[in-house]
Amino acid sequence: MRYQGGCHCGKISFSVTGDIDKLLDCNCSLCSKRGGLLWFVGRDKFELKSPKADELPTYRFNTRKIAHHFCDVCGCSPFSEASAPDGTPMTAINVRCLEGVDLGAYEITRYDGRNH
Ligand SMILES: [Zn+2]
Repeated sequence: MRYQGGCHCGKISFSVTGDIDKLLDCNCSLCSKRGGLLWFVGRDKFELKSPKADELPTYRFNTRKIAHHFCDVCGCSPFSEASAPDGTPMTAINVRCLEGVDLGAYEITRYDGRNH
């Protein structure tokens, strides 16, 4: 399955390929405030159309390892970049920013990010 996603105003636009298998409802201090519902995919499954990730505003906190990109026009945070424990580049998609996804159709796993 190929999904289209992006921020509200359209400045950030991307596609991602894969099957939504696991959704994480993270309770960390950032996700709880911005309403993140996360699907982790390998970076090779993620295609950013505009603009380049290193040209986007980026927020880091705590260990600063995860790059939380956001739109400086509309304020949405549609994806973040991180690495898996083995070093594999990963993208965390905020599935609320994907088009045509019925969030009620998926099992949502609570992730205790506040204590990790
Ligand atoms: Zn935007």
